[in-house]
Amino acid sequence: MPEKQQLECPLCHGTTFKREQGKIDSKWGITAHKVYLFICEICRFIMYFSKGRTIWDFD
Ligand SMILES: [Zn+2]
Repeated sequence: MPEKQQLECPLCHGTTFKREQGKIDSKWGITAHKVYLFICEICRFIMYFSKGRTIWDFD
């Protein structure tokens, strides 16, 4: 059985995250695209992932 990649907070090494879906608009001259936000439930560190550009499976 293959091991599932576990998302880990780079700051506190926590593994519980609040997952949110968001959108980055053209604030920085980038076309709007869907992003996933993972907010660490321990230290509130926020990680952003673009859809389809990550090693983790979300669905
Ligand atoms: Zn953390």
